Amino acid sequence: GTRSSKQLIRAEAPVLAHNYHPLPVVVARAEGTWVEDVEGRRYLDMLAGYSALNFGHRHPALIEAAHRQLDELTLTSRAFHHDRLAGFAERLTALTGLDMVLPMNTGAEAVESAVKVARKWAYEVKGVAPDRATIVVADGNFHGRTTTIVSFSTDGTARAGFGPFTPGFRIVPYNDLAALESAVDETTAAVLIEPVQGEAGVVIPDDGYLTGVRELTRRTGCLFIADEIQSGLGRTGRTLAVDHEGVVPDMLLLGKALGGGIVPVSAVVARREVLSVLGPGEHGSTFGGNPLAAVIGSAVLDLLATGEFQRRAAELGEVLDRGLAALVGAGVTGYRARGLWAGVDIDPAIGTGREISERLLAEGVLVKDTHGSTVRLAPPLTITEEELGSALTALAKVLA
Ligand code: PLP
Repeated sequence: GTRSSKQLIRAEAPVLAHNYHPLPVVVARAEGTWVEDVEGRRYLDMLAGYSALNFGHRHPALIEAAHRQLDELTLTSRAFHHDRLAGFAERLTALTGLDMVLPMNTGAEAVESAVKVARKWAYEVKGVAPDRATIVVADGNFHGRTTTIVSFSTDGTARAGFGPFTPGFRIVPYNDLAALESAVDETTAAVLIEPVQGEAGVVIPDDGYLTGVRELTRRTGCLFIADEIQSGLGRTGRTLAVDHEGVVPDMLLLGKALGGGIVPVSAVVARREVLSVLGPGEHGSTFGGNPLAAVIGSAVLDLLATGEFQRRAAELGEVLDRGLAALVGAGVTGYRARGLWAGVDIDPAIGTGREISERLLAEGVLVKDTHGSTVRLAPPLTITEEELGSALTALAKVLA
């Protein structure tokens, strides 16, 4: 027979690695902004798969594209060409204003690929001495979970027990151009940053920081790599978070929402001079750019080309911002918001981020805590104003 939510949660413990601490809800189906658990209880999704579900669950255009492709072709590997890849890359370069695409699958793979490309560019184009290339990153970063990526994490839990680490990274405070400038030298291949730090709690740099990073990297002759795996593709009210300052990086990393919440799709999008350093056999991925991923990614980019989702995120972002402002002093000590994305700091006297998340779950609203006292809000960009209002009402209620 079918198992209850309680039974399924209990069944996971002995057979699944405990690298997550999920909220006690077992989702069985979803549509748009709403998910339903095994018992048929409905919840408003205010997390959207850490921004992998920017277009909501099972957006009809994305599901239709996936269904059609399933009946034609799903995988060739890159040993052969397939008929969907060129269109995907053309859409991606058109949307971003960059020249070339390296298709991968997960976010961490895109970051790893960018690290490799930046190093090779440093040796072959910039002329850095062999094995001396450095990459400058920011304190509080989150770029994924591989051994090289956790090598430059500043989160002790993400690193403990996983050494030895990959050398060649310098860590500077985020949002500090002077510190960045003093870390950059002739060995620097790239500066790698999140234009908004998502996992750190939606940390937004001062106006002018991204422009400053662009100016500094151009002046000193190193690459600007923007990790927009969480911030990109409509979330902040613009196509990319760097668009808020009109800045174009040398390498742009996309993932999460690029796969429409259906399959993992990531990409390194870059200037021609940069991605041209890769030749046959030097990098690859069996699934990267596969036909199913390419059509879903293309359908995602077609949705973004309408501008509707960016507009919704910007307009509803103002509603979110006003709603959170009203809660400051009423259980909220502070918040940071851009578009439909917010990090909300909970007054520790009222509860931890986890406790607030559990209380919201009981109210039929799904969110997730980060860093102890912060709750992150990142609903599907398809959310209605009424739904957003009901989530804010629920938040006010559990804080009261
Ligand atoms: N980079 C950023 C900015 C992210 O937020 C994440 C995931 O949260 C990643 C990279 C890693 O992506 P993935 O979990 O798909 O490897």
